[in-house]
Amino acid sequence: MHWADVAASKIKDNAVISTAISPSGEIHVGNMREVLTGELVYRALKSAGKSAKFYYEADDMDPLRKVPAGIDQSFSKYIGTPLFKTPAPDGKHKSWSDQFIEPFIETMKLVGANPVFLRTHELYEQGLFNESIKVAMEKRELIASILSEVSGKQIEGEYYPFNVECESCGRIDKTVIESYEWPVAKYRCENCGNTGRRDIRNGNGKLPWRVEWPAKWLVLGVTVEPFGKDHASAGGSYDTGKRIAKEVFGIDPPFPIVYEWIHLRGMGAMHSSKGILVRAIDMVRMVPPEVLRFLIARNNPERHIEMDTGRGLISLVNEYDIYERIYFGKEQPNDTERLEDLKRIYELSQVNGIPESMPVQVSFSHIINLVQLKKDINEIMASLKRSGYDLSGDLSHLMRRINAAKFWLENFAPDEFKIKILEVPPSMDINENQKNFLSYLKQRLNTDLTPDEVNKIIHESCKETVGDQKSCFNLLYQIFLGKDSGPRLGFLFTSLDRNFIIERLNHYLK
Ligand SMILES: [Zn+2]
Repeated sequence: MHWADVAASKIKDNAVISTAISPSGEIHVGNMREVLTGELVYRALKSAGKSAKFYYEADDMDPLRKVPAGIDQSFSKYIGTPLFKTPAPDGKHKSWSDQFIEPFIETMKLVGANPVFLRTHELYEQGLFNESIKVAMEKRELIASILSEVSGKQIEGEYYPFNVECESCGRIDKTVIESYEWPVAKYRCENCGNTGRRDIRNGNGKLPWRVEWPAKWLVLGVTVEPFGKDHASAGGSYDTGKRIAKEVFGIDPPFPIVYEWIHLRGMGAMHSSKGILVRAIDMVRMVPPEVLRFLIARNNPERHIEMDTGRGLISLVNEYDIYERIYFGKEQPNDTERLEDLKRIYELSQVNGIPESMPVQVSFSHIINLVQLKKDINEIMASLKRSGYDLSGDLSHLMRRINAAKFWLENFAPDEFKIKILEVPPSMDINENQKNFLSYLKQRLNTDLTPDEVNKIIHESCKETVGDQKSCFNLLYQIFLGKDSGPRLGFLFTSLDRNFIIERLNHYLK
């Protein structure tokens, strides 16, 4: 059974799934795993006939902790300010959090995840946390003892589970509560020295993370929550959250789904703060969204995923195609016992329902060549038709793939995948055998040919002259591309203007 179905079988009806992020920097593809894990379980619950709600919260009440790499360090003056009140680094968005969350909301839509979107600061402002703040303050000694027992952190002096926002400097991370009588706290700011009295309800501050998390379970009625493995470590925030949920708020903690990180090939786990990342929005532009869903769906959450934006991207799309062929019965899996699992992975990868029949499959590597050698979509389609593809059905999959290939080539593709036809013939020493090869080839290229026919002609011409196939191919790549390899020559030659090819060959036959 698929892991999402296994989870769904253990989750009670009327589930409430919560996913969230602290929008403190670029939202990368690693963060996609949280919302897609939630979405897959949401779908699995629906398939199991259970009812479910699905939330995504921007924890924008969190303070800015660090100015990430790549952003003007002058923003460090806002450290400690809630993210929804911090100015946007690009000067265009309403706030720091909006700048990063807005493209992510778009990305979620593109991959077919449609959670109810909430801004945590609004929940505070609407007073939804008021009751949990009151309870937490009343039971603050119990919370302090849970925190020190579970996490091992000793709490010195009086503990108040609330961070008041300083009315003078705006920081939320530097105030200390000196005394309180519900709902007013007397506080002192260690940043600016301000002291004051403040009503702690309705967004004038926030619960610290380890208390806020279980309070959110209470406020939203959360019963299922995917979260990263950092929260799941022994003594971590899930361990403290579980006990606070039960002992302080009197609720059951949600069913946990712990997921591993997505590593960027050769660079380790992605971090917004260190600038090691591929933005989620870029990822969904360079692979079709169904392929991104496939990446998450086919890996158990506890397995780490290695993301490769180079050559590995092509293999990923190829694997998706295999699953698609298996789903539509055009290919058998090596392990026939896994057939149902593989089909379920394909189903869960679809953005909007399952296609009625198998979409036309053009390999990603072929599309990568086509978009570089053809001048527009009409030429691409004409070339595919000539190669025998049936283009009569729904072409939306193909179009998404074409757009993804273009974006990938412009932004992430390694040079080896870029085809650049040399405008001027490179100067080369050509021996007699090679000349014979080129001349032989030239004579036979004189009619309309298919890519396979061209390949055959190259092989035959080489056999009659130079003999060594590899050196013949290298020679042609050098003459046209200035490198030793490239796309299949049959395809390359049928994509280029024939007169251009003849002229280029003639240059070396003088
Ligand atoms: Zn202050």
